[in-house]
Amino acid sequence: MTTNTHNPTCLSGLSEPELIKLTEKMNWPSYKGKQLHSWIYKKWASSFDEMSDFSLSDRKILGENFTLSTLKLSKKQESKDKTIKYLWELNDKKLVESVRMFMEDHDSYSACISSQAGCAIGCPFCATGAIGFKRNLKSNEILDQILAIQRDTKERINNIVFMGQGEPLLNYNELIKSIKLIRESINIGARHITVSTSGIVPQIKKLADEKLQITLALSLHAPDQNTREFLVPISRKYKMKELLESLYYYYEKTKRRITIEYVMLEGINDQIEKAKELADLLRNLHCHINLIPYNPTDNNAPLELKRPANNKIYKFKEVLEKTSRKKVTVRQERGTDISAACGQLANQLGP
Ligand code: SF4
Repeated sequence: MTTNTHNPTCLSGLSEPELIKLTEKMNWPSYKGKQLHSWIYKKWASSFDEMSDFSLSDRKILGENFTLSTLKLSKKQESKDKTIKYLWELNDKKLVESVRMFMEDHDSYSACISSQAGCAIGCPFCATGAIGFKRNLKSNEILDQILAIQRDTKERINNIVFMGQGEPLLNYNELIKSIKLIRESINIGARHITVSTSGIVPQIKKLADEKLQITLALSLHAPDQNTREFLVPISRKYKMKELLESLYYYYEKTKRRITIEYVMLEGINDQIEKAKELADLLRNLHCHINLIPYNPTDNNAPLELKRPANNKIYKFKEVLEKTSRKKVTVRQERGTDISAACGQLANQLGP
């Protein structure tokens, strides 16, 4: 095999059959492909030198021709509550972020990962929206965020949420490829994967037709078209009625309860009448509603957005719960001290 030191191929992101094919192409026995798969996905190897069941000369060939990661760590911040925020540099120097959270109630770890560098949707409360869209991530760059976190912490990730940078459904093919790899190679079941969308109607239907058992989370944020158009600009294109229809369709195809995300902003969507409107809107949908108290970002938001007082948030919850008879939760905040909470991912390189 020829040596290619300039542009080595990254092995993370290749499936077991692909790794077997690759080793066969190198005139190596196919079991070496399986060994590579195990080192990458089960033992979280950081370097080929760790691969003790490969000979020294095999490891040299691997090291000269391949890499094990698409990501370079630019910054790591740890919060008081064990949340870790990672800033990664991609091969083309673009930056993305991932967050690892400890879920006390399940004694397990969740990773919030990015599907795009930046985001085109431009929600005014979101730090990522303020960066603008840079590019779609490849499936191996998506997957590698999980592997890189596991390599760093030596602890297994049990749940994945696509709630980092980007609108996952606008990077549909790479998203689906990465979910397949997460399930088959990292061995995280579909029920432990959540895809969060701002409401891209055709892709919600397409995702429903895949009949994956993943959870769909919709960033609704308002019960009425006008407020939603302000908070989630893509809703100018996909109106409330067709959005709701796509959610009914998702439930019908997958029988998976949908998560409705609702960021709470003072004076914008936190009024009691909005709680009643929301209950009415979601009347026929199998869903759970998650209220997210707004996390201020230090990016230039187009107007001064504020988080409602706690008593207002809990009053809203109470009314919503009573009128909708649905499960309503207030999201437990994690990593706010390191800007790792929802809507705070803004590629900050500084200290
Ligand atoms: S909230 Fe989500 S969809 Fe909206 S700008 Fe931020 S990353 Fe994009």
